[in-house]
Amino acid sequence: MEGTMQNDSDIAKNIQQVENNIRSACKRAGKDPKEVTLIAVSKTKPLPMLEKAYRQGCRHFGENKVQELTDKYDHMPKDVKWHMIGHLQRNKVKYIVDKAYLIHSVDSLKLAEEISKEAGKKHVIAHILIEVNIAGEETKFGTTADEAESLIREISLLPSIQIEGLMTIAPYVENPESNRQYFAKLRQLSVDIKSKNIDNVNMSVLSMGMTGDYETAIEEGASYVRVGTGIFGERHYGTV
Ligand SMILES: *Cc1c(COP(=O)(O)O)cnc(C)c1O
Repeated sequence: MEGTMQNDSDIAKNIQQVENNIRSACKRAGKDPKEVTLIAVSKTKPLPMLEKAYRQGCRHFGENKVQELTDKYDHMPKDVKWHMIGHLQRNKVKYIVDKAYLIHSVDSLKLAEEISKEAGKKHVIAHILIEVNIAGEETKFGTTADEAESLIREISLLPSIQIEGLMTIAPYVENPESNRQYFAKLRQLSVDIKSKNIDNVNMSVLSMGMTGDYETAIEEGASYVRVGTGIFGERHYGTV
């Protein structure tokens, strides 16, 4: 199949291309490229591909499964920063709470309570984002824009957990312009919440934008973009 096999030089080229696009988007938005961090989303991809991305300078990797994150954690250099970007089950929190640099997918008080409890046991502070279903899609996880503030107020009272900002997974669209409204909405929500000056709550991070729309997301204020296919090629599920 075309485009399925990514050899080493493809990955290097892809990363350079994505980094160029990030710089251009920053320029259009009048932002310093240092304000935007690329997360290489490596879910389903084998270690040699991650190692190639690492040699190309990537230090932030995103995974959506606990088991896969912990396996790769054990095999990659220790200066890698691991981002948990997938839906997280409460019974699996204990395996990643001291391994994830940032958990992007917190959308309930119960999950936050579990993270706080397990972080406390391991004497770490867990850094988290609140996942917001900004487009109100029925199939998506995430709190609603309306409920985000009250959820954040509740979570902010828990020990061993620090809210750093917001995350969203925008709809899958052909034209990234269709998602601009949602990126702008998430940014506005973060500005609104920041203005409430809630103790123990940072609103400095906006995690939004994937392969199809990260440039638009940057123009609307993204600080983390999560790019998988654009770096590692198509993913294949269900075959071994
Ligand atoms: C898989 C995934 C991505 C990367 O998607 P691509 O379209 O391959 O760039 C980003 N964010 C989340 C939450 C994901 O699950």
